[in-house]
Amino acid sequence: MAETSAIEWTDATVNFWWGCTKVSPGCDHCYAESWNAFRGNGEWGPGAPRRVIKGAAGLLKTLQRKSTAFYQDHHRKPRVFMSSMCDLFDNEVDADLRLPALRSAAEAPGMHIQMLTKRVGNVLPMVPPEWEKQWPQHIGLMISVCTEREAKRDIWKLRSLKEFYRIPWVGISMEPMLAPINPPDLKGIDWIIVGGESGKNSRPLHPAWVAHIQRACKDAGVAFFFKQWGEWLPDGEAAADVFQSLRRAGVETMELHADPSPFATVRFDTRTMYRAGKKRSGGLLNGELFHAFPKELQL
Ligand code: SF4
Repeated sequence: MAETSAIEWTDATVNFWWGCTKVSPGCDHCYAESWNAFRGNGEWGPGAPRRVIKGAAGLLKTLQRKSTAFYQDHHRKPRVFMSSMCDLFDNEVDADLRLPALRSAAEAPGMHIQMLTKRVGNVLPMVPPEWEKQWPQHIGLMISVCTEREAKRDIWKLRSLKEFYRIPWVGISMEPMLAPINPPDLKGIDWIIVGGESGKNSRPLHPAWVAHIQRACKDAGVAFFFKQWGEWLPDGEAAADVFQSLRRAGVETMELHADPSPFATVRFDTRTMYRAGKKRSGGLLNGELFHAFPKELQL
């Protein structure tokens, strides 16, 4: 929980509790769990008690108070990611904890609240009942999609929620993107964030998978945000001298096919991936920065 954030698509993070249970292959190397373990706590997994963060409502009030000054400096409202260390729609969390958190967010209209979940099916039964009449217009909803299976299972649910509640904007975070995802039907979707995985056991991200989604966003007029390559930098996605120095340093490499399926009969577009680390890998795609936001988040 912080008044500022290193996450490129937000300005601040607020968490009303810490802890979660893994529900997706995208959770395998959950950064929040690692951070939590580093801090010596144990709020992860089925039945593990979540840790309540007492100062969260106060931080939201502080951010709300400061939002006018932020607007004057940046000509837009601050973006606040709620929650980076848990999932708001975790079914192991009582309504007594979730509902006050969501109602606090509703009382902070000076900000853009960015809710992100891997449990889109829980949104309808878990948001405050009064939101059916009037969804707070400064709150948007994002879902996390890491594989084709999750895309097919969840994107239509997000679209239905947007229509039902008249949510001002909705987005899909494909981070970490773990495999190629066929361009989904993007009707009604406002934003897609794509990114690779970082950390010790990270899985690589093939540029063809990113290009696929980028093209789909362009065709559908959806804001496209490329966050990072993560741990593995694909050959050709940085200046030549970067690769020279990586080769000189003897960093680990691997070959990645555009179709990584073990059943693929043809191997095409094979790229060498360098374990360059998140910092050196950066977030340029074909030498360009793609940091688009939906228009609602630019106000
Ligand atoms: S849903 Fe999010 S916070 Fe929960 S385990 Fe998965 S990645 Fe971590």
